[in-house]
Amino acid sequence: MNKTPYDVNIGLEIHARLKTRSKLFCRCENRFDAEPNTLTCPICLGLPGALPVLNKKAIEFAIKLGLACNCSISEITHFDRKNYFYPDLPKGFQITQYENPICRNGFLVVSGRKIKIQQIHLEEDAGKSIHTNRVTLLDFNRCGVPLVEIVTEPIFSNPDEVIEFLLHLKRLLQYLDISDGNMEEGSLRCDANISLKPKSFSEMGEKVEVKNMNSFKSVKKALEYEIVRQTLLLNEHRNINQETRYWSQEQRRTFLMRRKEDTPDYRYFPEPDLPALKIDTELIDACRSEMPESPDDRFRRFRSEYGLTSENAELLTRDKLIADYFEAVNSHVEDSDLVCRWIVNEVFRILKHNTRDILSNKLNARRLAEFICQVKTKNISPNQAKSVFDQLLSDRQVKSILSDVESKNKTDQISMVLDKIINDNSREWRRLIQGEKKLLNFFIGRVIRKLPGYIDPVQVRSELSRRVDKEKS
Ligand SMILES: [Zn+2]
Repeated sequence: MNKTPYDVNIGLEIHARLKTRSKLFCRCENRFDAEPNTLTCPICLGLPGALPVLNKKAIEFAIKLGLACNCSISEITHFDRKNYFYPDLPKGFQITQYENPICRNGFLVVSGRKIKIQQIHLEEDAGKSIHTNRVTLLDFNRCGVPLVEIVTEPIFSNPDEVIEFLLHLKRLLQYLDISDGNMEEGSLRCDANISLKPKSFSEMGEKVEVKNMNSFKSVKKALEYEIVRQTLLLNEHRNINQETRYWSQEQRRTFLMRRKEDTPDYRYFPEPDLPALKIDTELIDACRSEMPESPDDRFRRFRSEYGLTSENAELLTRDKLIADYFEAVNSHVEDSDLVCRWIVNEVFRILKHNTRDILSNKLNARRLAEFICQVKTKNISPNQAKSVFDQLLSDRQVKSILSDVESKNKTDQISMVLDKIINDNSREWRRLIQGEKKLLNFFIGRVIRKLPGYIDPVQVRSELSRRVDKEKS
């Protein structure tokens, strides 16, 4: 890709769904898994005469994100109407921020690169159209759900940089506890503007906007596709049109949605039903004081406090849930290296095939901690413990999972020690086989003295009897 004679510029517009309890302008619950059309009211359905009331929590969440992204927070901000018709937008307009966004001029540092953020603004989501073979169904539950839109400078030059930034942002949203950041569930959505220009040109090329990328994988594939498509056009000295295209994951290509001349005129104007909002320094200070430890700070703390390698600290802090889980397990075990190894090797393997809920039920921190502690004290080898690790996903108690391994270990140990003792005391062994029963205790005593920890004499006696019977037969 670097060998092409073109410069690539990619800018992002990212929508993140905020985790407020209610919607942006009404008291309807903000939840994504409810029965269709059960979370609506006259305000979010846009019925005549219904007036919006701004959700204060959404403002606080946007300020927290702005602070974490090193933005300046506007003293005065206001909302605008973006007018357009769409079946899943019953009001006929969307309340967004156009002229005066709540946060501006920020940046995030990702892998040593400064990614400039033009603005972060608040807006309401539209409903959802569900297309079936014959009809289109409309679910208005999503109408009025609060979103933040994060707009970056066109600063990325390849899809890998974009993915790295999105992962960084997702982690930040989760740490701030303001959004799930889950792309597959639609809590994080990304549109990209992409333009190519010959390296010798100073002016930017025409921008093509790509929409409908619903996973990290599709963002990467769609951008790779667009770079190739535009490169081929430029190679043939053909023009690139300013247009909006959508990505089809099934067909693995982008399609034209609308050209520039078709771009709707949104006729933005200030929302008359909401007064301009003054954000005072007290509110900003209050938000700042509630800011949790940032992912970068936690990474550094994991290095210094737990002595983890930077690779492991990165793996464990990439996701807040995992970082919390690690600390919870380690608070019981107090052996950070050991806990890190179990999580990175075994828990991550389990998570490939299970949802993250598993970390709060079958594989909860207390259960994993108990497993690790027992493996340590019961003298069970890591390989043996690994072989039974998946049984943690069953209903069996940790103790019972490990007792099978433990008893097999004891049998093997007894057998090994017995081999040596019989060899060293061959005269007594012959007398025992010939029927001198009292010599059983002679052997049992020697086995018990040789082995560490508690050895059940009954277990030793049964192994001895088995051998005596075998010799006789
Ligand atoms: Zn409502």
